[in-house]
Amino acid sequence: MRIVCPFCGERELGEFTYLGDAKPQRPSADAGEDAVYDYVYLRDNIAGVMSEHWYHGGGCRAWLKVTRNTLTHEISLVEAAAGAGARQVAK
Ligand SMILES: [Zn+2]
Repeated sequence: MRIVCPFCGERELGEFTYLGDAKPQRPSADAGEDAVYDYVYLRDNIAGVMSEHWYHGGGCRAWLKVTRNTLTHEISLVEAAAGAGARQVAK
């Protein structure tokens, strides 16, 4: 599998580190204990298209949001994660 980094171009998978599902959002400060537990520990195990966070440690050291089909490993979108820039690159 190869990932097209929006800053470096197409690179080998070994340059990247997988963090996990990009969908969970941090609950508000007044959210209950159950909401925090869900955010920290619970993840969906999706068989299909999902958004994931990847870190390009072997390149620009940017956090990326990758939209990937977990069954075929087809990548449909790679963009900078929130706070890492606004550039967006389609596959
Ligand atoms: Zn990069």
